Amino acid sequence: MKIKDSFEDIFGSKSRVMVVAAHPDDNEIVCGGIVARLIDEGKRVRLVAMTNGGKGYQDRTDINEAEFAKIRLKEQLLAGKELGIPENENFNLNIPDGELENTLANIGKVVYHVRQFKPELIITHNPYDPINIFSRDTSWVNHRDHRATASIVLDAAYPYSRDRGFFPEQLTHNHLAPHAVEELLFSDSYSYPDVLYFDITRYIEKKRKALFKHLNAFSAETVDGEFIGETKLLPGKNYERLKHVKI
Ligand SMILES: [Zn+2]
Repeated sequence: MKIKDSFEDIFGSKSRVMVVAAHPDDNEIVCGGIVARLIDEGKRVRLVAMTNGGKGYQDRTDINEAEFAKIRLKEQLLAGKELGIPENENFNLNIPDGELENTLANIGKVVYHVRQFKPELIITHNPYDPINIFSRDTSWVNHRDHRATASIVLDAAYPYSRDRGFFPEQLTHNHLAPHAVEELLFSDSYSYPDVLYFDITRYIEKKRKALFKHLNAFSAETVDGEFIGETKLLPGKNYERLKHVKI
């Protein structure tokens, strides 16, 4: 495996990066190390999570969806804090878990953040594959909310944020301006030959601490076994992997 750190190539010239995630924990899983590194290097990062994660209580019977959603939202803020995301750049659109659709209304919500924050690049989910291929033996369903998020972000990036004709009330009423996003990074692109590697070795403890804020969503074993495990691509080195596209 040929591994080269693409951090400077992709982020060197950027000052504002937005992460649009489906659930409260996806930012930390997908790119927690990259976010910590960006913030450490003085770049601004905004997180927008689309859904509240309220249905992730699985076999627990002591809690309902609304109560669980509140816990997940709190966890999102605490995890973001570990990475250095200020509370006023850490958003959750509070759409019910598993009920995210690519509608004009939801595109408009993302467009609002794009026009307000003006990111040069957005990190989001894989828009290509209904099944994510990790390796020959390991694959999983690309969660419906992840697929919907990816598709909403593509539409928000082009052309809805750029063109004045879309959501004109954001321009008049909210005093925002059109904004064109020209680069995207996609998660769950392990099997793509052009996937890029981002060295997060110095930030792996921050990523781990942030993931440990989500222990209502997954176990400590999953953090160390899966989420940290998959970053260990070379001895003593940790990487996150994303696919880069220009639009
Ligand atoms: Zn998710």
